[in-house]
Amino acid sequence: MSDGKTQPTTSVRDPRREPWAAVLVEIQGRISAQQFESWLRPVRPGTVVGECLELHVPNAFTREGLLQNCGGLIRNALRDVVGWRDPSLKVSVDVDDKATRPTVRAAVPEKLAFPAAAPTAPKREPQRIEGLLQLHDDYTFENFVVGPHNALAEAAARAVIRNPGRIYNPLFIHGRCGLGKTHLLQAMCFELLKARPDVRIAYLSCESFINQFIAAVERTDLESFRARFRRLDVLIVDDVHFLANKERSQEEFFHTFNDLHQLSRQIVLSSDSAPPEIPTLSERLVSRFRQGMVCHLDAPLFETRVQIAEKKAESLGHALSKDILEFIAKNVQTSIRELGGAVTKVIGTATLMKVPVTLDMVREALGEVLLDRRPRVTLDGIVHAVTEHYGMRRADLQSKRRTKPLTEPRQICMFLARRLTNLSLEEIGAFFGGRDHSTVLYGADRTAARYATDAEFKRSVDQLAAMAGGSLKS
Ligand code: ADP
Ligand code: MG
Repeated sequence: MSDGKTQPTTSVRDPRREPWAAVLVEIQGRISAQQFESWLRPVRPGTVVGECLELHVPNAFTREGLLQNCGGLIRNALRDVVGWRDPSLKVSVDVDDKATRPTVRAAVPEKLAFPAAAPTAPKREPQRIEGLLQLHDDYTFENFVVGPHNALAEAAARAVIRNPGRIYNPLFIHGRCGLGKTHLLQAMCFELLKARPDVRIAYLSCESFINQFIAAVERTDLESFRARFRRLDVLIVDDVHFLANKERSQEEFFHTFNDLHQLSRQIVLSSDSAPPEIPTLSERLVSRFRQGMVCHLDAPLFETRVQIAEKKAESLGHALSKDILEFIAKNVQTSIRELGGAVTKVIGTATLMKVPVTLDMVREALGEVLLDRRPRVTLDGIVHAVTEHYGMRRADLQSKRRTKPLTEPRQICMFLARRLTNLSLEEIGAFFGGRDHSTVLYGADRTAARYATDAEFKRSVDQLAAMAGGSLKS
């Protein structure tokens, strides 16, 4: 280096060998110093297995804060700087904080623990799980609160576990983001493994399926890609709406599905919308997805939200009083993820600022959350747009009459309400003449199907959405 040329790489350690150091360098400028101190400073890197980085933290609170505040940043950095395609994190809470080496694998069932590897050992794929099973330790049935919004899906999941491949195949669970699909799917994995430790099971996101497929195409090695999946007893794919607009991946998925299904291997799928609502999903996949059991996860009702908030607080090692739990449950309705985030924020604020949890303190702590979550589109706005457009009266929409000129706009309203508001099926049904939730689902589904296939219809529904102050694009 005496020639005076800059050698930018000499001071930077090899990101592949030290991914955590590389991640820290990458993200430290993007978060506040306080966040860095709270969430990143306490982290100790553990082993790397495939594209999964293990991190150790001293307590559940840090774990939660780390995942919530920095999880996305870390994964992005692993993608950008380390070059991993599908990075994941495994954050373990160290029981003994003074341990100098990350040997403690708290709360990871033995059978899921990755093969022990010294930090310097070459990367190894986990043996029995073949990189196809990466689970979040907390997503178990014990931590899954059952209420009216998810009772059917939970019961179906349990039935499948008792009788894989024989009863509901596929099991298809759909619901908006943050309502518990991933949690339920992973709970099934834990339970299946408990019952039959030798089960060949894969849980993966649809995105990961697609990426692995594309990588296999690039390597011209579809054989081994296919062989890996065809060997499975149980295939669980999360977020299959990612297949939208991906023709080749759909085709491949179709064959994987068929081969496994013919052998009575269990398939479990989740999606943010019902099969016919997934844009451009081929007809044959739609009908495959519907051929077993389709369950819907709705938004939880108030009582369930209180229970979930309570459970969340418990898992962080704190008890919140009833009025605090109710205040949070009343104000955070959008998703269970947001609800958990609100509880974490309250407990985090109390812990960091060393203040007692009072209603005022909670209001203050959640200030932004509360403002953010106010639904932008209202049922009133939707009804206003639709009645204007069709030149009809609001009372007609809300009436029990079912003549065609009334049914279509009513179903459009239901579709828009489903997509643009956070109201539950029950709430929407109640507004439209006391109809039950299956009527709302049916109405929304019909509109969705036409929306996906009829360009002119789509244009006018898009316009109606805009008039109501929303957009169906996101
Ligand atoms: P989705 O996959 O539908 O977007 P997730 O399964 O990721 O939603 O759930 C979001 C968060 O809410 C997770 O932290 C999860 O543990 C929690 N959660 C969802 N449903 C429940 C439930 N019934 N009981 C307790 N926690 C839940
Ligand atoms: Mg999910």
